[in-house]
Amino acid sequence: MNLPRSLAVLQSDLRAGNISLTDLVTHYLEQIRTGHSLNCFLEVFSDEIRKQAKLLDQKIRQKKAARLAGLVIGIKDLLCYKNHTSQAGSRILEGFTASYTATAIQKLIDQDALIIGRNNCDEFGMGSTNETSFAGPVLNPLNTNLVPGGSSGGSAAAVKAGFCQAAIGTDTGGSVRQPAAFCDVIGFKPTYSRISRYGLIAYASSFDTIGIIAQNIADTALLLETMAGKDEFDSTASTREVPAYSHFAFDSKPKKIAVFNEVIEHPALHTDIRRNILKATDKLKKDGHIVNFIDFPLLDYILPAYYVLTTAEASSNLSRFDGVKYGFRAENCASLDELYNKTRTEGFGKEVLRRITLGTFVLSASYYDAYYIKAQKVRRRIKENITKIFSHYDYIILPTTPAPPYKLGELNKNPLEMYLADLFTVLASITGNPAISIPYGKTEKDLPAGLQIIAEDFNEMNLLSFSDYVLHSDR
Ligand code: GLN
Repeated sequence: MNLPRSLAVLQSDLRAGNISLTDLVTHYLEQIRTGHSLNCFLEVFSDEIRKQAKLLDQKIRQKKAARLAGLVIGIKDLLCYKNHTSQAGSRILEGFTASYTATAIQKLIDQDALIIGRNNCDEFGMGSTNETSFAGPVLNPLNTNLVPGGSSGGSAAAVKAGFCQAAIGTDTGGSVRQPAAFCDVIGFKPTYSRISRYGLIAYASSFDTIGIIAQNIADTALLLETMAGKDEFDSTASTREVPAYSHFAFDSKPKKIAVFNEVIEHPALHTDIRRNILKATDKLKKDGHIVNFIDFPLLDYILPAYYVLTTAEASSNLSRFDGVKYGFRAENCASLDELYNKTRTEGFGKEVLRRITLGTFVLSASYYDAYYIKAQKVRRRIKENITKIFSHYDYIILPTTPAPPYKLGELNKNPLEMYLADLFTVLASITGNPAISIPYGKTEKDLPAGLQIIAEDFNEMNLLSFSDYVLHSDR
């Protein structure tokens, strides 16, 4: 089956009766079956989605279908879906069934989107290669010797492999943008608080956002418009009105763009990726935009601040998993202490345990000021700096990743090397600004490269318009 790349075209085919949703779902399920070795899904809701498609086909025929009818999505294993297992890619949540659905997912369901399965991911979203999942790594559909990125690796790989139209992931430090770059698709992280976090299994609550992995900007905009908005179950969700993002317009008006010298000159930046970014900025200049290369000396502080703050929040958030009320429980324990101890030691993977330990350390009384408070101050300083930059510029452009996709096993032995993979994505997570990764060029070895664009807080509309322009203005 030759599928159109955009939902709008797919929907007009459905309405015209050229295809049925039942056929479409059968096609996806067959693709997932033949591509099983990519390990993108922890569970596929085959029977359920077949039944739902049949009912929705009727609704489409009766012209009663809602706005997202025809959209088949995968959801990351960190998102709760009522009466379905949600495991956060971890053994510790073995057998856990969600008793409610994440608000963002519910809003999609209310508009007749269908969920095809839950996507594999790094354990609790901690990782950059999708190799920390209890269920084993996801393979990159572009080349199965490579990782798909992480932590929403299963989501990005599923979209690229044609297993679903789009996928919903989460982005705490780059987990939607980085795998999107590695799998050659679009990854969108909205402003922190734009989409409710209710039903997102927490990693670092002051960073966590729900994000979108899609094949085009139109689908991204429609999904954002549907999921964004206030929520009585998440007091941190923004109450700002949700613009009609789906009405974004291709925007070629001259813009002011900042590029950081420290990024372009960074020793970890792969030559081909540097060349790609410079090609993009040259093109923008030629088309009449102002591109300035400016200094951003705080770059070196971003990763340390991110890892101090997120591990601190993780150590607190993950303390609830103790084997008492739900999930995995260790056997043959003589005391409550032993139960906690054994359950957590056996239930969590190595990377998660490392981060809990690190986070507990930076929060401990003797080190609290030296690490946690200091990192908070650094975060504040970075935010102030970025806000100032946005008083002069419309966008910041930088690579999504310092390097193209790694080989399987290449990074997971050395955590510090893995943390470096997040060098350019954590900036927008520290500051909460909206950011997108779009496919832009290839390396000499034909590996995908992502271009990242960061915008001012709550300026998603312009970010979508500009991204569409950068993607489609002739290169
Ligand atoms: N790779 C980053 C980390 O391990 C980002 C994770 C994420 O965004 N969930 O923290």
